[in-house]
Amino acid sequence: MKILFVTSEVHPLIKTGGLADVSGALPAALQTLGEDVRLLVPGYTQVLDKLENKRTVAAFSVFPGQPEVKLLSAKMPDTEVPVYVLDAPQYFCRVAGPYQYELGGDWPDNAMRFGMLSKVAAMLGSAASPLAWRADILHCNDWQSGLAPAYLHLGGGVHAKSVMTIHNMAFQGNFDRDWLGPLDLPQSCFDMHGVEFHGYLSFLKAGLHYADRIVTVSPTYAQEIQTTEMGYGMQGLLTVRNGDVSGILNGIDDKEWDPATDRYLTAHFDSSDLAPKAAGKRALQQRLGLEEQARAPLLGVVSRLTYQKGLDMLLECLPKLLDGGAQLALLGSGEDDLERRFGQLALRYPGRVSVTVKFDEGLSHQIMAGADIFLMPSRFEPCGLNQMYGMRYGTPPVVRRTGGLADSVDDASLPDGTGFVFDEPTPAALYRTVAAAIDCYRDLPKFQRIQLNGMRRDVGWRVSAQRYIDLYRKIE
Ligand code: ADP
Repeated sequence: MKILFVTSEVHPLIKTGGLADVSGALPAALQTLGEDVRLLVPGYTQVLDKLENKRTVAAFSVFPGQPEVKLLSAKMPDTEVPVYVLDAPQYFCRVAGPYQYELGGDWPDNAMRFGMLSKVAAMLGSAASPLAWRADILHCNDWQSGLAPAYLHLGGGVHAKSVMTIHNMAFQGNFDRDWLGPLDLPQSCFDMHGVEFHGYLSFLKAGLHYADRIVTVSPTYAQEIQTTEMGYGMQGLLTVRNGDVSGILNGIDDKEWDPATDRYLTAHFDSSDLAPKAAGKRALQQRLGLEEQARAPLLGVVSRLTYQKGLDMLLECLPKLLDGGAQLALLGSGEDDLERRFGQLALRYPGRVSVTVKFDEGLSHQIMAGADIFLMPSRFEPCGLNQMYGMRYGTPPVVRRTGGLADSVDDASLPDGTGFVFDEPTPAALYRTVAAAIDCYRDLPKFQRIQLNGMRRDVGWRVSAQRYIDLYRKIE
């Protein structure tokens, strides 16, 4: 099968969160299983800088009145997966993030930027393709490529089938209806049974309405988004399309995230010998200015700092945990209020709390390896990858039983327990569970059993990539 994997971020070219990790690893796994899979990504400056040996393979106009764009072809670093880059410098070569400018606001022309990405994806899956290669399957990811199934449908003729994966229902890409014209969409599709969502043009709604199949990134989240509480207004549509919705748990890139070979670590370890993990902890404490106490339970957090991630609950119960001897190493950025409050905590507990507000790939690996317990108290979590990285690095996660966290972590009370799971989204419940994890940490044989269960769990992509292939075949 010829599969075009359309994504707005991909590791190691550009990353703001888990979507980039999935876009780096899943196509590579599909390729290993024998599929002709290619990526389509926007030509951000970072992407153009990092990709070598780019060739221009087409130049064409996407929307009436817009300047010509180019399609470049290259291979992904490391994996050699072919990648097409939508080279439209006017839209993608900008300082700051892929979706937002430096002060945190969305780029005002995001509808045009990602409408263009979606339209080019649809062209590559139809007779309008400027290439000899034409996709059988368009695999779209999140709202940024949500219009692609709509363009396929509206273009008519023979075209690719489409799969829409939802990585986070909270991000919908809702824009003013005035964008219909510039995006070359007919007024007739601005309807409940089309791209309209409460008076807005919604990219995600378009994907959910027009795609042949809808996937979300864990079986539990696939159920949750069909409820009023977690459907963000899309639950009705999803319930109607229930037969086309499935949940496929993300895997992790187990080469990139392997404590035995990790390029960011100096002390490597695996499940046959955990001892070097202690050196990683010491190195982390030194790097972050934490007191070098070998047996102080070191709690790790690597996260976007947003309401979703539940870290405000951690702020409330942390003083008690710190007073009990714990340390905290936090890496993350996001909402001003959370950044400020964690910063204040670090000032209040010098040597016990380290807060790093930036995006730092290397430090994220070092925290995963050097911490004793990883914290992920999310209010909701479509899949989550960090809990799986924690398990693989012998750093059992504390998670709330929601979405992919519920599907990937088994509580320590179970024979194959890999972490510590709580239900209520309250500081008290979080506190009790972290305290229980710390008690367990002090009981070495018991804790090691949890560590080893996690490290030995198969959380790679092979099984889930095969599930995607089975799904493509059903609709091909
Ligand atoms: P989400 O996609 O909701 O942000 P995930 O757990 O699925 O959450 O994936 C987050 C990814 O982003 C992980 O690879 C994590 O290590 C990384 N990450 C998040 N914040 C940072 C940061 N400040 N620095 C480095 N990596 C980060």
